[in-house]
Amino acid sequence: MLHFGLSLLAFINRIKHKEHPLAVLYFHRVINEPSLFCPDDITSANFEVLLTKLNKYFKIFSLSQALALIEQGKLPPKALVLSFDDGYADNFDNALPVFEKLGIKASFFIATKGTEQGYLWNDELAESLKNTMATQFGLFDQSFVLNTEQEKANAYLYLVNKIKFLANQERDEVLNAIYKKIGRFEPARCMMTAQQLNKIAKLGHDVGAHTHSHSILAMQKLKVAKQEVIGSVEYLTDILGEAPSLFAYPNGWFGRDFKVEHQHVLNELGIQYGVATNDGGITSKTSLTALPRFMPHRKEFNQFCLSILKIAGE
Ligand SMILES: [Zn+2]
Repeated sequence: MLHFGLSLLAFINRIKHKEHPLAVLYFHRVINEPSLFCPDDITSANFEVLLTKLNKYFKIFSLSQALALIEQGKLPPKALVLSFDDGYADNFDNALPVFEKLGIKASFFIATKGTEQGYLWNDELAESLKNTMATQFGLFDQSFVLNTEQEKANAYLYLVNKIKFLANQERDEVLNAIYKKIGRFEPARCMMTAQQLNKIAKLGHDVGAHTHSHSILAMQKLKVAKQEVIGSVEYLTDILGEAPSLFAYPNGWFGRDFKVEHQHVLNELGIQYGVATNDGGITSKTSLTALPRFMPHRKEFNQFCLSILKIAGE
């Protein structure tokens, strides 16, 4: 029944676009256990179940493989790419073994300050909130209560969602102001190492750039935005021995999180492809520096699969 529904949707998409649109999903972490601090991330057990099923109904490629097929006019129906943002070590520990087992290639986008330092600013905020002895603090005209794990997680999710939209300098000032109130706790490494990135690249997975310190480009002065892109590209070039051709815009919403001027930055730097987080599928007519990606909200498997082709056909 699902096969039939997917084939029908693929047929409709083909009529509408005169070619098969490519669906690209985005993930972040593949966590060991459910966590209040990562409510949207998939657990490793669920991930293996999901991938095993997706592999039956879709043809899964890395982004570079799929883009080459689009260029040659050879992308098959129900083509799917799985992409992973930020560069968390759990991708290596929990997702990579599943890919190897199923013979799947995937695409990883790395915020390189995480590789270098071991964690990103949001991980440090999470660690500080988890370990603080403070029971409350005030910021942004708001008071945060920190008695329980749930309250700490609520404060974390609220603050990350505010702070990520700040310019780098302001972001760091606000974080320092928070650490003055609650104390600063350095997290253990939670990001992939340079060696691990090298290994996934050698296995044939894509390793693309995702800025250095995970900055939303449109919130920065253009000069800073450019430095963020260059920083991640140079770092990856250094450790992988060749320049990445793929880039993912942090947060990724075209028109809000990145703009035409940032597409021009990619062109100037010779980065061929930029992926966004706007709904839709990729065809030969899609702008190469604003390629859509999405993640369906529906959790039930059949509905999840049908949503993939519906959104790819938009
Ligand atoms: Zn990201």
